[in-house]
Amino acid sequence: MEHIYDDECIFCKIIKGEIKSAIVKENEYCIAFNDVSPKAKTHILIVPKTHVKDIMYLDDFYMCKVLETIKEIASELGLDEKGFRVINNCGKEAGQSVFHVHFHLLSGSIKF
Ligand code: 5GP
Ligand code: ZN
Repeated sequence: MEHIYDDECIFCKIIKGEIKSAIVKENEYCIAFNDVSPKAKTHILIVPKTHVKDIMYLDDFYMCKVLETIKEIASELGLDEKGFRVINNCGKEAGQSVFHVHFHLLSGSIKF
């Protein structure tokens, strides 16, 4: 599948390896890396590998891949037992600051 990137987007740069990040998991459709400013003991961002500004523009195929990836990471880190929270901020009034759709996976001492 062809992925669409935006040269100015920070998450596209992370996907292309132009900006370093602590990658937790990567597959054909998604990348997951530690948030640079963690709000919990575990704070991972799951990002589809296509430049879509928010969840309103994300198609069902990518949505499924994101959810699969979240569940895989949760199992691998034992969060399926401990518990975790998934957050998506859609738009400015929700506090979205990076306009490449992403999901926050948080667990332990959540400071939101
Ligand atoms: P939003 O506020 O858009 O829902 O979430 C954006 C998140 O991206 C924030 O939690 C912020 O800390 C994180 N972030 C912004 N720039 C970078 C970066 O260059 N690297 C990483 N790892 N996280 C980033
Ligand atoms: Zn992007």
